[in-house]
Amino acid sequence: MSDFAGKNILVLGGSRGIGKAIVQRFAAGGGQVAFTYAGSAEAAAALAAETGAEAIRTDSADRDAVIATVAGRGALDVLVVNAGVAMIGDPLTFDPDAVDRMIDINVRGPYHAAVEAARHMTGPGRIIVIGSVNGDRMPFAGGAAYALTKSAVQGMVRGLARDFGDRGITVNAIQPGPTDSDMNPADGPMAAAMHGFMAIKRHAHASEVAELTAFVAGPHGAMITGSFQTIDGGFGA
Ligand code: NDP
Repeated sequence: MSDFAGKNILVLGGSRGIGKAIVQRFAAGGGQVAFTYAGSAEAAAALAAETGAEAIRTDSADRDAVIATVAGRGALDVLVVNAGVAMIGDPLTFDPDAVDRMIDINVRGPYHAAVEAARHMTGPGRIIVIGSVNGDRMPFAGGAAYALTKSAVQGMVRGLARDFGDRGITVNAIQPGPTDSDMNPADGPMAAAMHGFMAIKRHAHASEVAELTAFVAGPHGAMITGSFQTIDGGFGA
């Protein structure tokens, strides 16, 4: 598989879960891949050793650090913003600073990263943000703050697609439903309730999300822009 041979690729938040699978997919495709991480240094080092990708410590809540890391990669062919956190629970109990940090990571980081990537892209680049089906549908209590961040991704994708379309740069969101990861384990306490909302009653594998991401990032994705590619087993149907 050499569908990304020679491509300059950056994945923000690649040390674990869906981001890790995306790094593995692009590396298997021959891409020159770098990825960021914040807290999981050991996992990042192991993934770098496994794939040959470069691991860069960058906290996605730190706007200036995100911009510097993106700028430091030069003319990217593909930017994937996967880094994200989820606060699910009673909003009356949430620490407001933690809510704002989630907004920083899930919204402000992707926006500034996308704009900075476009500043340096010289060809028909691909900008992909990992959103969520919760941007469309929030069928249980406790997810308001998380859902607002993923709905914000949708507005950003629509707008930036129009800002950069003349240059052949596409901007899209991939919207997973329940996907097996540390954030949302397939055997976790909420799994059965989530499966109740789905037509295909299982968590997705991170590799399935990575494969859709690779399609949108690849040569067959040139006319896909301003769109939300949902991979959710029918959660939002
Ligand atoms: P995980 O918690 O398993 O992994 C999150 C990844 O993001 C890790 O690599 C983590 O790195 C990185 N990350 C988190 N915070 C930061 C930060 N401040 N700076 C840099 N990197 C950071 O989550 P998932 O793989 O499940 O989720 C990935 C994305 O997919 C998220 O945007 C999430 O909202 C979205 N999503 C997930 C779904 C699911 O069911 N799993 C469903 C729908 C959407 P580190 O550990 O090094 O900090």
